[in-house]
Amino acid sequence: MPDGRRRGAGDGQERRGRGRGPLAAISEAMVEDAMDERTVEKGEAYLEGGNVLDAVDLGDALWGRVQGRQSEPYGVTIRLSGGGLSARCSCPMEAMCKHCAALALMWARNPGSFVDGGAVLRSIEEMERDELVSRLKGFLRSDPSLLIGFRDALQEAREGQGSETLAR
Ligand SMILES: [Zn+2]
Repeated sequence: MPDGRRRGAGDGQERRGRGRGPLAAISEAMVEDAMDERTVEKGEAYLEGGNVLDAVDLGDALWGRVQGRQSEPYGVTIRLSGGGLSARCSCPMEAMCKHCAALALMWARNPGSFVDGGAVLRSIEEMERDELVSRLKGFLRSDPSLLIGFRDALQEAREGQGSETLAR
């Protein structure tokens, strides 16, 4: 694979993610192995064009939103599976697309630019209950699709406890 594609992005700067967790194994070479050359090139153009809007390191997966041609950005999830790259996207391609390439290349070059999702999740454990409840209500109000997911989780938890008094 051509080396001319490599730029200095992230080189020599602090690389928070390097060496931490299995996802540190994701390299540019791995991205180039997993996707065809045109896809990697388009992904690189997206990355350099600032199309990656959000990038989160969840520890066992990377998540991001990548702006494509539609007005709504696409959601991308990347994992390691069987020693290779597994990448899903909400675009019509569904997987291993240029949006996936953009996020994977961003991680390979500059993991420090990803939000440390694990740290955010850990910090929730230190929050006061009242603050946590208030924030959670705020999130559920601002995105009712989360509210529906939360309701389903509550119902599952109730069923798990063997309760037969499901509210209808
Ligand atoms: Zn896509």
